[in-house]
Amino acid sequence: MIEIAEERIEILFNRASEDFSLHPERSHRYVNMARKIAKKYNLKIPGTWKRRFCKRCHHFLQPGSNCKIRLSGSSVNIKCLECGEAVKIPYIKEKKERRRRKFESNTF
Ligand SMILES: [Zn+2]
Repeated sequence: MIEIAEERIEILFNRASEDFSLHPERSHRYVNMARKIAKKYNLKIPGTWKRRFCKRCHHFLQPGSNCKIRLSGSSVNIKCLECGEAVKIPYIKEKKERRRRKFESNTF
């Protein structure tokens, strides 16, 4: 059951992304459906999609269309243009990961 739920979440987000240009309101609905499934089965939204919707108004976010992404220092700033919510995501983790990979490729 959980596997099916995970698959459905993935499908819903993919569809939200595909439909956004023509039917943004459908995308927002898909996000809501995916969130409901995640909640029901106590699942986490996959990392790739986690940042693709606004945590305040829950609208699907399409960079360059209804959200703005700015890089500043050590974080990524995502601003939802639907409700104005701004989210800061530090990317220290990614930086560390890259450093680690570099280190590994040097040693092997
Ligand atoms: Zn929003």
